[in-house]
Amino acid sequence: MHILRVAMVFGLLSVGVSSGMLVAQGPLEGVKVGDIDRSVDACTDFDAYANGNWRKEHPMPAVQTTWARRNVAQDETLGKLKSLLEVSSSVKSPARGSTDQLIGDFYGSCMNEAQINGLGLKPLQLVLAKIDGVKDRKGLVAELVELHGYGIYAPVRLSSTQDAHAPTEVIAEVAVNGMGLPDRDYYLRDEPRFKGMREKYVVHVATMFELAGYSPLQAKEAADAVLRLETKWATVKLNRVELRDLAATDHPMTFAAMQALMRQFDWGSAYKAWGVPQGKVNVTELKLVKALDAELAATPLADWKNYLKWHVLRKESAVLPVAFGDQTFAFFGTTMTGAKEQRPRDQRCVREVDSRLGEALGKKYVEAYFPPEAKARAREMAVNIVDQLKLSIQKNDWMTADTKVKALEKVGALNIKVGYPDKWKSYTGVTITRGEYLKNAMATDAFKVREDLAEIGKPLDRGLWRMTPPTLNAYSNPAMNEIVVPAGYLQPPGFNLKGIDAVNYGAIGVTIGHEISHGVDDEGARYDAKGALTDWWSPESYKLFQAKTGCTAEQYDKYFVDPGVHLNGKFVLGEALGDLGGVNLAFRAYKKSREGKGPEPTIDGLTPEQQFFLAEGQWRGALARPETARMAAQVDPHPAGKYRVIGPLSNMPEFEKAFSCKQGDAMVRTEAERCVLW
Ligand SMILES: [Zn+2]
Repeated sequence: MHILRVAMVFGLLSVGVSSGMLVAQGPLEGVKVGDIDRSVDACTDFDAYANGNWRKEHPMPAVQTTWARRNVAQDETLGKLKSLLEVSSSVKSPARGSTDQLIGDFYGSCMNEAQINGLGLKPLQLVLAKIDGVKDRKGLVAELVELHGYGIYAPVRLSSTQDAHAPTEVIAEVAVNGMGLPDRDYYLRDEPRFKGMREKYVVHVATMFELAGYSPLQAKEAADAVLRLETKWATVKLNRVELRDLAATDHPMTFAAMQALMRQFDWGSAYKAWGVPQGKVNVTELKLVKALDAELAATPLADWKNYLKWHVLRKESAVLPVAFGDQTFAFFGTTMTGAKEQRPRDQRCVREVDSRLGEALGKKYVEAYFPPEAKARAREMAVNIVDQLKLSIQKNDWMTADTKVKALEKVGALNIKVGYPDKWKSYTGVTITRGEYLKNAMATDAFKVREDLAEIGKPLDRGLWRMTPPTLNAYSNPAMNEIVVPAGYLQPPGFNLKGIDAVNYGAIGVTIGHEISHGVDDEGARYDAKGALTDWWSPESYKLFQAKTGCTAEQYDKYFVDPGVHLNGKFVLGEALGDLGGVNLAFRAYKKSREGKGPEPTIDGLTPEQQFFLAEGQWRGALARPETARMAAQVDPHPAGKYRVIGPLSNMPEFEKAFSCKQGDAMVRTEAERCVLW
């Protein structure tokens, strides 16, 4: 099970840093005073207070679906990456397989829109013809295996995963997904926000089929078949709250037992085709694999063929002629998330390189834009924040002594990864040319699949990174007992080498604290120091832990993004606990870091404590388009931006004191309501 807790889901791909900007010189910078809206009472709505002026002066651009100061940094980073790619793509006769050749030619082929449009669906004909050529059930399974090789998991996927019970080993994992809509509820529920979206989805699928040459009638029938099959998966899929129970997806078994669950699927041939050794395998959702097995036998072959073609078109829409990408944006961009305009092609191509050849591009990014001082200072902050978590474990009155020992062992073993991997990934074996873009895209997809499956049966590689270095995001992987903060996040506004400690701890420090807290949130707490899913808690301590986390779930149940569209406290619990722990630990680490150095200056009448909290508000506070907010309430485990500010701060007496708020103010939860964990 890959339980990655990422800092934010939307706007995942990103990047940034201005060269020179990070070199400390001159007076240190405080919080962005001009962003504050002083007409708002900080004790009433701190998100609006911290960000109001910035929002007035910076309306959300048409291409964005969420909007905060960090998005500006993301766009700047895309610009930096673009300039690196333009240099690589202009190198004359680069050595085959060299970084310049790989990323330069990939970017060049992506930017050649005329060539892509001119070729039409020709590069995909072979793939589509093979689907058409399926004659029987055996051939159908062989086709699923073939498509899997290009990363088209429709609907079954075999991947590698850390063994949750022997955490130094990598085993196989079988999962079934294969839904085009982002959540099962879109298929099953009849409220207008689900049913309406479902109806528009069917129209979208039909339009894609028409673009691929179907008549309107054929396209409609094919889209209906897609919905029928996807609804079968949705019906038995666990919901997102159920999926947060790690035991619900923990079903380790032998190869033979897995084969016995799925009699229609010839796993022996599949493993042979992919070069995977037969051994222990985890099946995530048993009902789903059984449903797949039943449909492999029961659903008409003609429906299966349309379903597979849909998933080919869906997966490749961004690399096909622009009509496919435009149609996909019309549904998933505009209808689903409310974006007004598609990003320009150059930005999309930069993102494609980042996602497909990310460490090749990332190495160049780090060399050009990431100063070693940033890495050192961020690591020091992380160590200071971990120390505060240790202190909280030692001092608290609710954990038993034996549980404290285990918790301290776990936190003491936390691996902190900052900036970029120690060992860069090799892309040997990937062939990229200036020719057909689709071929390049499929070559990188095939590489990703091979690379992942090659891990099965091997010892765990703890050096692996699951985000690229220029990414403006971070993650925690409790099974690896690690947090990972890519170089892209260590730039303004999150982190500023010229900034005072208050604003660095209040922004990136809060994120680092958030990721550290994930190791001991309701899911992370179930892994031990080595990453094994074991029960290391004393029953008394675990009961009190659950009562404390229950306080947070209740708090977030009350928040809503639209009248009638509430957050689900149990679903956002892990992220809300990360936010609560993150701010508390970062604040204490900040105070501790100033011991012996004296307090930092008051700037524009704002005390260092006020600046810390303002930095948090300006870093976390984000607007979302209404469509995105509604979808996120359904599928994003992170609370909406406003509640990432209000939620944790309203629990903190330190915040109340810093802004002289009073009991009864909206930003002050009463003594009885207050949630405290670490
Ligand atoms: Zn998180």
